[in-house]
Amino acid sequence: MSEKRTCRLCELEKEAGADAADLLHYRNMIAPEDRATEAVYNGRLLLCEKCPYLVDVTCQACGCYVQIRAFAKKAACPKKKW
Ligand code: SF4
Repeated sequence: MSEKRTCRLCELEKEAGADAADLLHYRNMIAPEDRATEAVYNGRLLLCEKCPYLVDVTCQACGCYVQIRAFAKKAACPKKKW
């Protein structure tokens, strides 16, 4: 039985609605060599989705868009969850 993989960014972008284009724009400004791998990125977003600090697509601990923070290889969670 195969499990359908979903893109965490796509799911969160749907929730963000009009902010989705801005999120993609800023995310794509991160140089390819400075981006997290897809597995790391998705794992980070899974943790964010379960976090009480996440409101819509914004981390209330630092004020950032989690899709952008999680996409940067050297970024870290302000609450040390990833
Ligand atoms: S505190 Fe960490 S895990 Fe929670 S939303 Fe912010 S970045 Fe994500």
